[in-house]
Amino acid sequence: MQYILDVDRTLFDTDRFKQDSESYKRDGVWESGIWNQLNPKDYLYDDVIPFLTSLDKESVGILTVIRDYLGDKGVEFQKGKVELTGVSELVSWCEYMKGEKGEYVAERCGEEQMVFIDDEPGQIDSVHEHCPEVISILLDRKGKAADDFVAGRSNIHIVRELSEVSAILEQYG
Ligand SMILES: [Mg+2]
Repeated sequence: MQYILDVDRTLFDTDRFKQDSESYKRDGVWESGIWNQLNPKDYLYDDVIPFLTSLDKESVGILTVIRDYLGDKGVEFQKGKVELTGVSELVSWCEYMKGEKGEYVAERCGEEQMVFIDDEPGQIDSVHEHCPEVISILLDRKGKAADDFVAGRSNIHIVRELSEVSAILEQYG
């Protein structure tokens, strides 16, 4: 299987980071020196390293959205963050993009079964729309997913943590 993972609120506790980093912002954007003050590794969820190390590095990629509010330095900021978490050492590619992920995931679909994991229902919808054959997993860490999110759609699942993913994939043999 091939895996495509999101970063913010999937691997990285963005909400806790935002709380801790408020005082390092200038004009609404984080200063580049922030990583001398805060260690990105401290913001990975506990299940991330065990999950990534259980997979073959060559089969895992990262697809992360650059938010407009980060301005011109958005890519630089997000790249710095991902690299300093150490996660980029455990995956074979990282792509930084804007907007919806469906087309990006569709471009990477091949013979092998693809698994897409993201915390945003809208991104799961986008991927499901462009490539319904992809196993799309909503990582709902806070248990906020709408009751009818799956609503009979095949290849869509909800988990609360990454350790639940392997049991879901067993259904696919
Ligand atoms: Mg996210």
